[in-house]
Amino acid sequence: MTVTETSSHVRKDLFPTGRLFIAGQWRAASEGGLMAVEAPATGERLTDVARATTADVDAAVAAARTAFDSGVWSGLPGRERARILLEVARLIRERSEQLGQIESQDAGKPIGMATNVDVNGAVGAFEYYGMLAQQIDGSVRETPGNVHAYVQREPLGVVAAITPFNFPLILSTSKIAPALAAGNSVVLKPADDTPLSSLMLAEILQEAGIPDGVFNVITGVGSELGDRLVGHPEVDKVAFTGSTEVGAHVAGHAGKNLRPVVSELGGNSANILFADADLDRAINTAIEAFVFNAGQFCMAGSRLYVERPVYERVLERLPQAVANIPWGDITRPESVFGPLISRKQFDRVARLVSETVSAGARVIVGGNPDPDRPGYFYPATVLADVREDHPAVAREVFGPVLTVQPFDTEEEVIEAANGTAYGLAGGVQTGNTAKGHRVSSRLKAGIVWINGWGLMDPAVPFGGVKASGWGRENGPEGLNEYLQTKSIVLNLEG
Ligand code: NAD
Repeated sequence: MTVTETSSHVRKDLFPTGRLFIAGQWRAASEGGLMAVEAPATGERLTDVARATTADVDAAVAAARTAFDSGVWSGLPGRERARILLEVARLIRERSEQLGQIESQDAGKPIGMATNVDVNGAVGAFEYYGMLAQQIDGSVRETPGNVHAYVQREPLGVVAAITPFNFPLILSTSKIAPALAAGNSVVLKPADDTPLSSLMLAEILQEAGIPDGVFNVITGVGSELGDRLVGHPEVDKVAFTGSTEVGAHVAGHAGKNLRPVVSELGGNSANILFADADLDRAINTAIEAFVFNAGQFCMAGSRLYVERPVYERVLERLPQAVANIPWGDITRPESVFGPLISRKQFDRVARLVSETVSAGARVIVGGNPDPDRPGYFYPATVLADVREDHPAVAREVFGPVLTVQPFDTEEEVIEAANGTAYGLAGGVQTGNTAKGHRVSSRLKAGIVWINGWGLMDPAVPFGGVKASGWGRENGPEGLNEYLQTKSIVLNLEG
């Protein structure tokens, strides 16, 4: 594997200072608290952000409520909201170099990926929902009797958005853009580890013309702020992306106030490689599916099932194919992946691999992080001779780890692929189109790729079934999460 040295050059000048963004103002946390943000590639402290308190949560929700009730945004015609959202997209594009640098250093992403995937994804979300903001239409319903009945679509009010560390920009904009397009106000609580791009987003939204109070950002510790935010009586909807464990807690807490939640949670997705697939392409796809973002991808294809006739051939080819991946130095555009986010995540991945090996798995490649290297770099690792109950198979690893198992029949592999608590994504690699469709339709997952993995677009909904979550982001479905329906019936008599 090509490991390139990591530059310790950290551009601290890029980072916003330790302030919260509430009611259009930058302000210190109410108790003046700060928390350090670390660079995963070096372990260095990048900067400090404000450590919000529950009083700050209350202030942010109050600002969002006041803005919503004033109609300053919720009362604008969709076309006017669209104009401002498209301006947000333009400003993000204009600052893509700076945003890419922030995302790269904060989240440990290679600079090429941070710019091409993360920043472009944010642009795409605002462009897409800017377009849809102009198309929020009601309808007239045919009714018997002398009445005129019509249905209108309305924003919900205040949306609390909570995001995970792995795609800070994309997963916040996939909530903010549709929520704002629909006319809501938003309070964003980004991940404890990766809050920096959200602060820059606040600057951009303000500059684009989003009125004060419509968008607010509170940084801090999720476990300290979460219950207050999620359970706040003035919050009308919670949009949560994160682990299944925290997601279940959030849903339970919001449920006490009967507030709806859209939740995008964990995954442990199966990629099925049939013997009739184009093997070169399928092997490349299988690798991309597990190393993308160092495996810190909710839809990582971490379980590979290979049809028996080509199983040994695939295992023979994986070590060299993995060795050819450039990784490590996040400042080099060609790097495919960088470090894990934190020491905690590194230790978790290392433990799941070692427990799986102790249970009898064979290491095909990887599994040997360099103990002297600063930062949290874990090499791409492939494990064979695994069983469904091995830790790296049964659980979400969230690291660059692939488990490989053979299969003999379609029935058997569909049962294995579905045999997990999760249901986020799936992949079918085959030269037989009918088989691709047939198997895809039986996978219990929110998205399935045939002859590929990971293609995402603002127009294509994603989300999970079972323990992978409720509801969908992206597409018109993502907008509907932030709208409610009201029927108005006018008596035409008298
Ligand atoms: P996490 O669940 O630890 O944290 C997610 C967010 O929840 C963070 O902002 C955190 O501060 C906040 N939080 C923590 N405690 C809270 C509480 N009590 N109440 C409210 N919020 C609280 O997840 P993570 O480690 O940041 O991200 C990794 C997880 O996210 C993985 O399981 C991954 O699969 C999942 N994920 C899912 C998707 C998807 O679209 N399905 C996308 C990305 C990540």
